[in-house]
Amino acid sequence: MANYDVIVIGSGPGGYVAAIRCAQLGLKTACVEGRETLGGTCLNVGCIPSKALLHASHQLHEAEHNFAKMGLKGKSPSVDWKQMLSYKDDVIGQNTKGIEFLFKKNKIDWLKGWGSIPEKGKVKVGDEVHEAKNIIIATGSEASSLPGVEVDEKTVVTSTGALDLPKIPKKMVVIGAGVIGLELGSVYTRLGTEVTVVEFLDHVTPGMDSEVQKQFQRLLRKQGLDFIMGAAVQSVETLKTKAKVNYKLRKDDSEHTLDADVVLVATGRKSYTDGLGLDALGVKLSDRGQIVIDEGWHTSVEGIYAIGDAVAGPMLAHKAEDEGMAAAEVIAGKHGHVNYDVIPSVIYTHPEVAAVGKTEGQLKEAGRAYKVGKFSFMGNGRAKANFAGDGFVKLLADKETDRVLGAHIIGPAAGELIHEICVAMEFGAAAEDIALTCHAHPTYSEAVREAALACGDGPIHS
Ligand SMILES: Cc1cc2nc3c(=O)[nH]c(=O)nc-3n(C[C@H](O)[C@H](O)[C@H](O)COP(=O)(O)OP(=O)(O)OC[C@H]3O[C@@H](n4cnc5c(N)ncnc54)[C@H](O)[C@@H]3O)c2cc1C
Repeated sequence: MANYDVIVIGSGPGGYVAAIRCAQLGLKTACVEGRETLGGTCLNVGCIPSKALLHASHQLHEAEHNFAKMGLKGKSPSVDWKQMLSYKDDVIGQNTKGIEFLFKKNKIDWLKGWGSIPEKGKVKVGDEVHEAKNIIIATGSEASSLPGVEVDEKTVVTSTGALDLPKIPKKMVVIGAGVIGLELGSVYTRLGTEVTVVEFLDHVTPGMDSEVQKQFQRLLRKQGLDFIMGAAVQSVETLKTKAKVNYKLRKDDSEHTLDADVVLVATGRKSYTDGLGLDALGVKLSDRGQIVIDEGWHTSVEGIYAIGDAVAGPMLAHKAEDEGMAAAEVIAGKHGHVNYDVIPSVIYTHPEVAAVGKTEGQLKEAGRAYKVGKFSFMGNGRAKANFAGDGFVKLLADKETDRVLGAHIIGPAAGELIHEICVAMEFGAAAEDIALTCHAHPTYSEAVREAALACGDGPIHS
């Protein structure tokens, strides 16, 4: 048994960042993790492995589709799937070991095992009970299930199984056209799988700008993904190594079936708090199973905080990280800060999709007067040189004050470009501030400036 100022339960991007910040602020800190390695969903079975497979499969796509155009002739590379998975595992290992190193450097104890909170101020791991003045719950999330669909992580898989399939399937059905389904659907399409995405709604990526949604779906179709929209999956039958997906079209209730070698269930994630003992402690949960917190990340029980996917808000690693830092600062008597209005979201397909702030739909609903500055990557020299002219930057600014309210980008490096706008929004900048900032040529960033110019007297290159 040991005494700590803070024990963090869960070592995902929320938990490990909280632990490091606590230690940096002079607090004696431990972090409990039940997994074999640190880093949570994100590093082990989420952000990092999916980006490794997206990167590798994108290189193949470039070789197959663009190399010859640039005079790079010869046979396209063939896929060694085992090696691709081993590259992905190596990337995971480098990242999770990196967190282990940071824990040692910051003198954070890793308490190995599954933790629970038997009473206020105590954390039990295995047979040991540790005392903690403060506890941060950062236990993350798990894949949501779908009635009538049983996941076996072989034929019917969540994203975790999809990141480690024994072979590249011939046919895959992805249930759900959200970020995870489309990223992994893209990976397998590029590797030669026939991918069909079945989505309940009539559009992809719910919550995103509707123009982006349309163009995104169109571009993914062009790349070979097939979509069945407005379809409610009723059940999935598994037959040895195959599966049948039964769905009804919402428009006419007609029933249909799709065959697949693998079915990826990507219908969202839900907070994970099993085994912590929250009921007995009186820690309040919402009706969606998320831990209820106030603006200082306190739960309903004094001395217990909660962050990341375990609480409400976008299930994103960087949101969890920001909350981890902020909760640590509150515990250390400082002022924690998270600006929930400026949390970017990115889809790492090709082209990438990125957004921050309000959508046009939200502004209309709020009755706010706004203007739109839009610029196509077709007018961007760098994008043209790199076969990356598909997509646009759309900047939304207040009609009266010109203050930037949001941005929606589909195009090359959208996930990098969005941060210029995040910084502008944090500083309360006007679109004109971006337009008056000199941007290096030739860069994709010039498209952001052109969109800002489009909010004023007009862009130069369109
Ligand atoms: C395929 C996929 C791709 C994704 N890609 C992205 C992306 O590109 N960008 C992005 O921002 N987000 C992405 N996400 C989401 C991101 O992974 C999560 O938002 C993020 O990991 C949440 O961090 P967290 O710290 O709250 O929880 P998690 O990362 O889920 O970590 C929680 C940890 O707590 C541990 N734990 C749980 N209960 C206990 C217990 N009782 N005792 C001890 N340990 C416990 C778990 O083992 C886990 O390791 C992706 C998710 C998936 C599934």
